[in-house]
Amino acid sequence: MQEQGDSADDHERYSRQVRFEPFGEAGQERLREARVAIVGIGALGGASATALLRAGVRKLRLIDRDLAELSNLPRQLLLTEADVLAGIPKAVAAAAQLASIDHQAELDPRVQDLTAESCGELLRDVDLVIDGSDNFEARFLINEWCCTRQLPWIYGGAIAAEGRVFSILPGTTACLRCLVPEPPAPGDLPTCQTAGILGPVAMVVGAVQAAEAIKLLAANPLDRAGCVDGRMLVFDLWSGRWRNVDLSPLAAEGCPTCRGGETPWLNRQGAGAATVLCGKEAVQVAASAGGHVDLEAVARSLQGVRPGHDDPLDAPGRRGAQTQPDALSRWPGDRPRHARSRPGPRNSGQISRPVIA
Ligand SMILES: [Zn+2]
Repeated sequence: MQEQGDSADDHERYSRQVRFEPFGEAGQERLREARVAIVGIGALGGASATALLRAGVRKLRLIDRDLAELSNLPRQLLLTEADVLAGIPKAVAAAAQLASIDHQAELDPRVQDLTAESCGELLRDVDLVIDGSDNFEARFLINEWCCTRQLPWIYGGAIAAEGRVFSILPGTTACLRCLVPEPPAPGDLPTCQTAGILGPVAMVVGAVQAAEAIKLLAANPLDRAGCVDGRMLVFDLWSGRWRNVDLSPLAAEGCPTCRGGETPWLNRQGAGAATVLCGKEAVQVAASAGGHVDLEAVARSLQGVRPGHDDPLDAPGRRGAQTQPDALSRWPGDRPRHARSRPGPRNSGQISRPVIA
């Protein structure tokens, strides 16, 4: 329950945005009740978390198992040099920064990965999910979780100078699997490590994701379909090109997940899977429930793996490319990659420490 003084402060705090008529007092009240999970609290997640909290979304779950690193500082707004020096987990550092913005914030930092096993714990009680992740496995898990529970989620991707945002409202828009029936093999596409990334690109993506989330959360739930137009924003800050790609033809057809309720990624619990991560030459291997990983078998399976982009929207076979042949650009070529061994946190055997980009 909000105390009287806090309530009066909120009236002043949010006075400018409630004057925006489509949002108004009702929108502010709905934001106050909303709970959002942000999967990956790096560049995209840090920007969207900042915007959401400042707008009045106080219940935030911040999910990221990675530690702060020096190369994060150009684009990850919630990290400081002190965090890097201390090797603080990003989720913890982000929560500390956000708490200094709003003393009423209800922050729930989780230093862990989103996996098939942890989805239930991490996403069970949220109203919306923001994708700030660095790998398509996490995105497919989010997609399946949200599609089968009619939860909105906001896809975001950034690499080099290009950013993408797509608001997915199950039952109304296309979903991730509609676009990408078969995700790319690990190593097929370039990463932030190989193609680089400009900080402002990630900040724009995070800001647009937050705006999309605010629109959906501030609306009467019965009116949410009117908040999404089924188009994906694609922009390039270097060339100055901004486009909206109409994905509504995919929504009309649907896919086995958003129409049939199939959840192959969620059903892979305990299977153990290798994921190429954006940022460094890193491959994460999710451990089975018993915690054992056969690293020799993993090494054999990784022979020939090339550096890859983690963005499934660039995947070969992407259906968006068929319906919009010039709608989305492709990323440039590949380079050999070598996995390295390094210990990981509990229940995760990893070959190299990943960095969210
Ligand atoms: Zn679908």
